[in-house]
Amino acid sequence: MSDKIEKTIIIGSGPAAWSAAIYASRASLEPLVFEGAMSEQNRLQGTLPLGQLAQTTEVENYAGFPSGRLREYIESAIDREQQYLLPPVEDHAHAVTGPELMNLMRQQARNFGTRIITDDVVATTLGKRPLVVETAENGSFQCLTLIIATGARANYLGLPSEEAFKNRGVSACAVCDGALPRFRNKPLAVVGGGDSAIEEASYLSKFASKVYLVVRRDVLRASKIMQERAIRTKNIEILWNHQVEEVLGNDTAGLTALRLKNNRTGSETQLDVSGLFLAIGHTPNTTFLGSEVALTDKGYIRWTQPYRTLTTAEAVFSAGDVSDDYYRQAITSAGTGCMAALDAERYLAEHHLL
Ligand code: NAP
Repeated sequence: MSDKIEKTIIIGSGPAAWSAAIYASRASLEPLVFEGAMSEQNRLQGTLPLGQLAQTTEVENYAGFPSGRLREYIESAIDREQQYLLPPVEDHAHAVTGPELMNLMRQQARNFGTRIITDDVVATTLGKRPLVVETAENGSFQCLTLIIATGARANYLGLPSEEAFKNRGVSACAVCDGALPRFRNKPLAVVGGGDSAIEEASYLSKFASKVYLVVRRDVLRASKIMQERAIRTKNIEILWNHQVEEVLGNDTAGLTALRLKNNRTGSETQLDVSGLFLAIGHTPNTTFLGSEVALTDKGYIRWTQPYRTLTTAEAVFSAGDVSDDYYRQAITSAGTGCMAALDAERYLAEHHLL
């Protein structure tokens, strides 16, 4: 166990974590961030460092990053040896990509003195002071305040063929990826029957030639108003009682079709589409927490007061998708990361710990 008692530890490495780190470092809290491990297990789970955004391509809706020639900016802003999980920078005008945005946020946090350890947190002890955070490879660390910003991972169907076409036609975020050229004026499929599936299908219907909503039962889970929206939209067709059995495609074109099974009859059909969007829920990353912080009935960390990032554990704050099953946008995560850092700073000030 490290002897030092940190003022603030932040767990996570998405927009909430880096925004919290930027605010905490500028408030002289000298935050220590555990960004997760670069492990095969994290790759398979979709929990590698830099979070869900690092798995997307262009981010066209993060305010402040209109499309442009970013090469010179990125290369001048991010230390070369710190360019991390960053594909080669494209030399044509484009909106910032998820990996670029996350690298920029990480660098910004480092510029203000944030320390980063590339390791997973595997357990916490939050019932007594100081709080203790246990890591997989680097021992235990003590802190006065803790910000949990470990995000959530999109649920996938779990098909090997789905894994093979991720970022080449398979996506779990229509708002992030839907407007990309590969999906424009093409037939697309959305899997799911909840509000998210309908929201994604409606969003895609603006760009796609047609959207098939693949629903495993003969009813939608979505609210009535959303159901009506789907039914009213001319280029959305609902395929009831269907599930995806296999994603089909090739190396050059990416995804080209889906093999579907009718759950009632067992018959199989091929659906020619250029994209598959999963909207079958998310799983918040909270397993390391045990039962020390209260969760909602859906498993997200519960905020105890509206518009505050306080959790049921004293001096423990949460931010981003680990507490949000509703908005789930990079910019909303970043906003709550800022809030968590301010809440941690105020806690330390109120308890004369600064
Ligand atoms: P959800 O309500 O849990 O719906 C998940 C959907 O995915 C269900 O239809 C479920 O089918 C389906 N599904 C799950 N696993 C599947 C699998 N393996 N194969 C095929 N289908 C599968 O999740 P959500 O739609 O993400 O919504 C989450 C929360 O956010 C909800 O409270 C929702 O109301 C809210 N939200 C609201 C809005 C809005 O109001 N504008 C927009 C988005 C989300 P079954 O029904 O058969 O279980």
